[in-house]
Amino acid sequence: MTQLTFDRYLRYDDLTRVLQAWASTRPDLLRLSSLGKSFTGREIWLVTVTRFATGPDQDKPALWVDANIHSAEVVSSMAALRLIQDLLEQDGQVPEVTRCLDTRVFYVCPRVNPDGAEWALADIPKLVRSSIRPWPWVDPPLDGLETQDMDGDGRILTMRIADTNGPWKISPQEPRLLVRRDPAETGGQYYRLLPEGQFHNFDGLTLPIQVRKESLDLNRNFPARWRGEHEEPGAGAFPGSEPEVRAVMDFIASHGNICGGIALHSYSGLLLRPFSYEADDKMPAEDRWTYSTIGAKGEALTGYPAVAAYHDFRYHPQEVTTGAMDDWVYEELGRFAWTVEFWSPQRQAGVTDKRYIDWYREHDHEDDQKMLAWSDTALHGNGYIDWYPYEHPQLGPVELGGWNPLFSFWNPPPERLAQEISGVPKWLLWHNLISPCLAWRDVEVEALTADVWRIRAVVQNAGWLPTDITRLARQKKMTRGVILELSTNAAITMVSGNARVQCGQLDGWNLKASSPNVWGGRPADPTDDRCKGEWLIAAPAGSTVTLCAHHERAGRISRTVELRTAPAAPDGNQ
Ligand SMILES: [Zn+2]
Repeated sequence: MTQLTFDRYLRYDDLTRVLQAWASTRPDLLRLSSLGKSFTGREIWLVTVTRFATGPDQDKPALWVDANIHSAEVVSSMAALRLIQDLLEQDGQVPEVTRCLDTRVFYVCPRVNPDGAEWALADIPKLVRSSIRPWPWVDPPLDGLETQDMDGDGRILTMRIADTNGPWKISPQEPRLLVRRDPAETGGQYYRLLPEGQFHNFDGLTLPIQVRKESLDLNRNFPARWRGEHEEPGAGAFPGSEPEVRAVMDFIASHGNICGGIALHSYSGLLLRPFSYEADDKMPAEDRWTYSTIGAKGEALTGYPAVAAYHDFRYHPQEVTTGAMDDWVYEELGRFAWTVEFWSPQRQAGVTDKRYIDWYREHDHEDDQKMLAWSDTALHGNGYIDWYPYEHPQLGPVELGGWNPLFSFWNPPPERLAQEISGVPKWLLWHNLISPCLAWRDVEVEALTADVWRIRAVVQNAGWLPTDITRLARQKKMTRGVILELSTNAAITMVSGNARVQCGQLDGWNLKASSPNVWGGRPADPTDDRCKGEWLIAAPAGSTVTLCAHHERAGRISRTVELRTAPAAPDGNQ
């Protein structure tokens, strides 16, 4: 089997070859298909992982995992591949993996945005937020600075321009670093900083920055309180307007067996959950409690704190983000969803008091010194580049330097990749195993006369989550209950009742208190996880009937019983 060692980042052709090799060596566990085509026509790969011998994927509860919707967040793609490889390698070795592949399915889209990732991984990288489709205008902007690698060294750094009115000065503690000029300070050596690049229609007097021609953000294009360009820049023309997002939406919306959705991103070293756009008190309390248990397990397995995006991860205290994948999957589809942000350069550098996005606005200079020391040692000096002179064709003598973020801030350097992505697949496995899952509890056949039979079948939810997953889905009646069916044939006649029995939702045990000492009384666990079907049929002894139980999320199981007087053997749980 093609085995990745996770010490380098894969470009599209390599990624494709690995997926094809896995599909051809493990057809029992993995199937490769395409969700559709990217803007430039690349296939958006979808990997289905389950043990096909125990039933088709659509008949099992599933976890959706996607990655790399944002171009430069290439660590996320590698983590998706790590999940797949771990599953293939650990099947038959790790009991939870074996059980998960027997009873559940993973749908993994390792690179939602192959065009943008290909630009990020090019020898001379071109870094855009997301899709490379020009937006909101097809023609390039007229004026201002276009970010690009000016000196051809494969890096896009920062330009440092001496300016008597600049806001920065050299740090008294560390000459490679800059600090803010004091509010009433004047007369020193100050600098202005701009991205490495060149100006269109340069007038010699002003230094405006261009809005990128490719300014879409595919993770603002989902129909979760979607807002247009004037309120949410990069959101696209309408929800699902972009081919990559549309392909993901089509697949998720047409697979009711998906019980959870995880979008892999970088960076910050966090597990983010909905809502992005409103406070936790708008979420059913039961869902917050369940999220809290799932998040605590995630923290334990990954080391990443679990937080709500609205409360702890906002770009501006008075702004919210809309149109994100996880909010869509939770609020509109009623399944638990997360955004995983891999990698925290601050944590790596020993900066512990980190307030995520707020840290970027305000932090102690000591933190910058720690980050620099970390770049010097752990990154072998490749993160923060000391300033060096450069003769700019328009600005004259300037300096280039500062952070080269692609493999320092945004992604781990290749030699740290394997370590950084090792924990999340364990959480994803666990997340899949908590889904509802139908299992037979009892099937009884009783002969009432020589050819009239009473059949009773009890099916249970053997999973931790209820069959409708979230309280929100229950409130909005997003999915119907369990259906129990007895399939009849010419030899069988219904004496009474219907062949199809509609049951309700089956609970799991996710909302049980942490101990049985319940406030105001004794614990009570009625069998809300079971449902029963009963049929009276006329059929000759020795014939067989097939029972089937199914639920859009919790799977489809069937069982064939022979009509005879001895009781049928009970079946095991899943
Ligand atoms: Zn992202």
